[in-house]
Amino acid sequence: MAELFYDDDADLSIIQGKKVAVIGYGSQGHAHALNLRDSGVDVRVGLRPGSSSAAKAEGEGLKVLPVADAVKEADVVVILTPDQVQRTVYAQEIAPNLNEGAALVFGHGFNIRFGYIKPEAGHDILMVAPKGPGHLVRREYVDGRGVPVIVAVEQDASGAAWDLALSYGKAIGGLRAAGIKTTFTEETETDLFGEQAVLCGGASQLVQYGFEVLTEAGYQPEVAYFEVLHELKLIVDLMWEGGIAKQRWSVSDTAEYGDYVSGPRVITPEVKENMKAVLADIQNGAFADRFIKDQEAGGPEFKELRAKGEAHPIEATGRELRKLFAWSKRSDDNTNDYVEG
Ligand code: NDP
Ligand code: MG
Ligand code: MG
Repeated sequence: MAELFYDDDADLSIIQGKKVAVIGYGSQGHAHALNLRDSGVDVRVGLRPGSSSAAKAEGEGLKVLPVADAVKEADVVVILTPDQVQRTVYAQEIAPNLNEGAALVFGHGFNIRFGYIKPEAGHDILMVAPKGPGHLVRREYVDGRGVPVIVAVEQDASGAAWDLALSYGKAIGGLRAAGIKTTFTEETETDLFGEQAVLCGGASQLVQYGFEVLTEAGYQPEVAYFEVLHELKLIVDLMWEGGIAKQRWSVSDTAEYGDYVSGPRVITPEVKENMKAVLADIQNGAFADRFIKDQEAGGPEFKELRAKGEAHPIEATGRELRKLFAWSKRSDDNTNDYVEG
């Protein structure tokens, strides 16, 4: 059984006694900075010159500084820029200005696990990674609850890195739900696998194929959209509440029987072998290398794949249909509202 931590296991005064610099004020950055501030922690936000996030942070009353200056003031530096820019921000702005003995906190292990950031021996290296989107991390905190966090220590230079990690997890509200002990390696590899094989990659491809099969067979795209995309949320909500078993309990016997006989025809054992190959590419660094090399070239492959995804006919059908949903107040501008880290 994984080791779990709750509020009673952590001493909030540890992080309250530190000067914390949160670098980046996006999905996670804004949630960490605001939750820390509201937990009585001395926070400043580090951003690049001309950052579009600065006005938002200042609007919340937070002190905003250039990254280098924020780092110079800090005992704890929280690195919450996008993963693909962290190595450059670290090399150029953070490392040269890092105080002796300052701790580094990450929200995902990517750059440490794959060696893109190699901090010196004197720094604690921690991870406090909420298992949910930043906007939920903030909303839950404000409502007196929290999003579970996973907690890891890669380097314990001070001998007190775990106490600091738990104190930090309490301050952002994570230990109100639970903290789960892990390692940078386990977090990074399982996070990448989950999002690639199941949550993002697997689910997106499954939905697109389902839509294609129905529309190519002559069914109306609007009906296909409801069957393969819209209802997916309802099914996933049931799984989230009570496992696959609750989903099967709630659907009709017809649907449940179809699940048993057709699920394994669609997702064949070969798919499991493909998943193993995806995991191998994560573990051996091939995925990280491909991602970072593409990003360093300006993201040509990334942009091409994104454009291809946006051009899939299911997107146009969905855009039109969602406008008609009486209950749907959400706009399609969800740039700041994504779920999977
Ligand atoms: P975002 O993409 O939301 O971060 C954007 C922020 O980073 C903006 O404030 C942006 O400022 C700033 N930024 C971008 N480039 C630079 C730069 N070169 N120098 C300084 N600041 C920069 O990131 P996320 O919150 O999605 O991810 C942060 C970390 O949290 C990642 O490690 C991610 O894996 C992890 N994570 C994310 C989750 C999520 O819900 N999104 C969930 C769990 C973990 P500007 O306005 O200047 O562009
Ligand atoms: Mg149906
Ligand atoms: Mg992720």
